[in-house]
Amino acid sequence: MDFQTLYDFTYSLTKLYDEANDRPALVEGFKKALSLFFPVEELKIYMMDEFSFLLKDFTKPWENLSSNCENEEIKKYFDNFLVQKSQYEKEKNILYFPIKQKNKTLGLAKLNSREEIKEKNEFFNIFPLVSSQISMFITTLKNSEQIKISSKFHQTLRNIAQITQTQYELDYILPIMGEMIDGFIQEHLIYIFIKNKNKKEYKLIWPNKCSDSRIYEYLESITPKSTTILKQDGKMGIFPLIVDNKPYGAIVAYNHFDKITNKEIEYLDEIKNQAITTLTRAKSYVEVLEHATLDALTGYNNRHQFEKRLKETTAHAKRQNQPLCCIMSDIDFFKKVNDTYGHAVGDCVLKNVAKTIKKELRESDIASRYGGEEFVFLLPQTKLDEAIIVANRLKEAVENKKINIEEYKIKNIKEISVTVSIGVSEYKNEKDYEMLYKKADEALYTAKETGRNRVIIAN
Ligand code: GH3
Ligand code: MG
Ligand code: MG
Repeated sequence: MDFQTLYDFTYSLTKLYDEANDRPALVEGFKKALSLFFPVEELKIYMMDEFSFLLKDFTKPWENLSSNCENEEIKKYFDNFLVQKSQYEKEKNILYFPIKQKNKTLGLAKLNSREEIKEKNEFFNIFPLVSSQISMFITTLKNSEQIKISSKFHQTLRNIAQITQTQYELDYILPIMGEMIDGFIQEHLIYIFIKNKNKKEYKLIWPNKCSDSRIYEYLESITPKSTTILKQDGKMGIFPLIVDNKPYGAIVAYNHFDKITNKEIEYLDEIKNQAITTLTRAKSYVEVLEHATLDALTGYNNRHQFEKRLKETTAHAKRQNQPLCCIMSDIDFFKKVNDTYGHAVGDCVLKNVAKTIKKELRESDIASRYGGEEFVFLLPQTKLDEAIIVANRLKEAVENKKINIEEYKIKNIKEISVTVSIGVSEYKNEKDYEMLYKKADEALYTAKETGRNRVIIAN
């Protein structure tokens, strides 16, 4: 036995253990390591899927094998390994060997060599070592994936539960929920629908397109007693959101390739229940807050109140012939903050940005949360050039603010910063007083388009 080859092989596997963190990288690494013994043309790993009882390409578990022929062929070898007939099988330049965990056959490797594989190849001297190492790596990766999914799932549940503590507008809650579920259930299309109160039809809330019209038919069959409905050979799961005994909407999961597994149904059912709790709370919150004026997270005026104040201040400015300006701000790449650090940190950032801006304003300025991470400010008795100075000051204050996120314990990150884009407009006594913020909003859009973290003045 060539000691050097054995050393090189073990060394390349050890390196692989440190470096490969996804399936394709792992298989590519095996291929490289095995190339020490054979001129490897192709290496494929197939694993038995415990739910569908089909062999699947380890790097593309969502796909069925392309042809029946291929399937039959591999299945034959797999079955042999299953009854432990042989340690490996070879056919001219193809070698098959099992992937095992604790003596249980979980799958098999198929190696295509450019040359005929001979028994005298030193690979066969150390075969038990090689096959057990490869098996161990694969099962370790699978287990760590499982742990990641399960922890992501619990994070998703926590996040969904947290939303109502700061948001009570269902218009915001539902898309955020969609985003969260999407991040967690990756191999599925996730849709969220809610039932339109007046028209009694289901309306798509997340994402913004659904090309499968059959879904709408299925949704119509939801009753207050409905539980999970499986359609299209089990590839589509409909999880009705029943709130206060009425069909309120539904989460729909669709997997293009496969049946939805029992585990996934379990996960989605739990997410659905969490969503129902969140929606029930949000609904009663809305009822309580119907007369409220302030936004719970930032302490700014809420949108409803903003609309009222806009009408009053524009009327007042017109009557008194006084200047009035509007500043609209939107946090840049805020979605990334949520995605990177989680929703709780997103909320903390929102709160801090609101506080930072508030410090730069006058007592008489009116600060409102227009929605999500968008704020709007009315500046009575302020001319455009003054408003521009204020806007630039806000922009800089936010940029320089170091937001402490230590308490969230994210990889020792102590503080983060964000920037805002800003649009400024002046009231020109337009009859349509809403033009004031619409112009600011347009300018804000230009600020985003032209690079963010900047102030643009409406023309
Ligand atoms: P852009 O620079 O173009 O503004 O990018 P963006 O990522 O900030 O913009 P986008 O509008 O795509 O995303 C806004 C995100 O804000 C989406 C939503 O998840 C998040 N969001 C809205 N309201 C809240 C909230 O109350 N709390 C948290 N944490 N996130 C929120
Ligand atoms: Mg934004
Ligand atoms: Mg926005």
